[in-house]
Amino acid sequence: MTFTEPQATPLALLLLGQGSDASSERGVECPGDLPPASDPALVERARVAKEQLGDRVFVLGHHYQRDEVIQFADVTGDSFKLARDAAARPDAEYIVFCGVHFMAESADILTSDAQQVLLPDLAAGCSMADMASYQQVLEAWDVLTDAGVAERTVPITYMNSSAAIKGFTGAHGGAVCTSSNAEQALRWALDRGDKVLFLPDQHLGRNTAVRELGMSLDDCVVFDPHKPHGGLTEQQLRDATMLLWRGHCSVHGRFSAQNVADVRARVPGVNVLVHPECKHEVVEAADLVGSTEYIIRTVAAAEPGSSWAIGTELNLVRRLADAHPDKRIVFLDKTVCYCSTMNRIDLPHLVRTLEALVHGGVLNRITVEPTVAANARLALDRMLALPQPTTAGT
Ligand code: SF4
Repeated sequence: MTFTEPQATPLALLLLGQGSDASSERGVECPGDLPPASDPALVERARVAKEQLGDRVFVLGHHYQRDEVIQFADVTGDSFKLARDAAARPDAEYIVFCGVHFMAESADILTSDAQQVLLPDLAAGCSMADMASYQQVLEAWDVLTDAGVAERTVPITYMNSSAAIKGFTGAHGGAVCTSSNAEQALRWALDRGDKVLFLPDQHLGRNTAVRELGMSLDDCVVFDPHKPHGGLTEQQLRDATMLLWRGHCSVHGRFSAQNVADVRARVPGVNVLVHPECKHEVVEAADLVGSTEYIIRTVAAAEPGSSWAIGTELNLVRRLADAHPDKRIVFLDKTVCYCSTMNRIDLPHLVRTLEALVHGGVLNRITVEPTVAANARLALDRMLALPQPTTAGT
């Protein structure tokens, strides 16, 4: 195994922080005493609390979580798989979601009323999801209505969006998608309308439209919620097929085409494998593009001795390198690229959540208002009815 560990310098972390929208992160105080991270008994405390809770608790761990948290996860996966896993365990009273806020919301929507979903740190938001607020999307819809295109537009929202945006999508005839089924969702939408309003990740929308549906870049325009009329003329709104929301992932958005060129020069014969949340020029320069689950499957099936440069979140890339010592696995960028909000869930937060449950306390429960949940469920059910992806890509 060869893993090129990026330099985790404070400067690099600071730069990563600058890439995200600080005002969008949920700076919420969490109740209860947080055990010190230096407490050597933390692992044992988590183990004992989890054992005491038994089947009453089900711990979900997203692929981008820290190792110290993942070791206590009953299942790991991407956000949608985890929400479905939670729904498949109706006996579990408490779902502890080690991930970010929108994921816990989705789990609350998909689980029964008898189950309570907990997020160990309320400050674990997602900068991408927070780039599309409900009010902004309502205003955008008014712009489309004034331009006479709203009734021909079908909204599609990425799983990485708030429950309110999923609810808007469901109420306006649209569907949710993941990075695995975005192609099927776009085809479904374009069978029902002339245009798609794709929320909130412009890169996933553009990459899927161009690479999977054969559109040109000119078929896509970016709707900027911070500009009057989205920064677009009525003619542009009428001509475009893809109205891409101006949102992005602050982790995957950092990769550049230069990173791809550099790693090809550094590692002879390397296969470059990236997530579709990367910029279009990055996926065009890569060899393979696909969801987190696709990345995991592809590396697992690769020939021993092969070399891989992976453009996704660092916790996952490092675990892949550990799991496949017979392959050379390097990180696409040379600098650190953790998801800073995912990393807010650490062992002290998990221990506090589990120990509170042992003593009958429920910390940081995430609930979705019933009307919003019902509309969001519509959009999720439409996604579930989509044909299964047939290609290996995004
Ligand atoms: S990796 Fe990107 S999309 Fe995923 S939670 Fe972090 S900021 Fe959000």
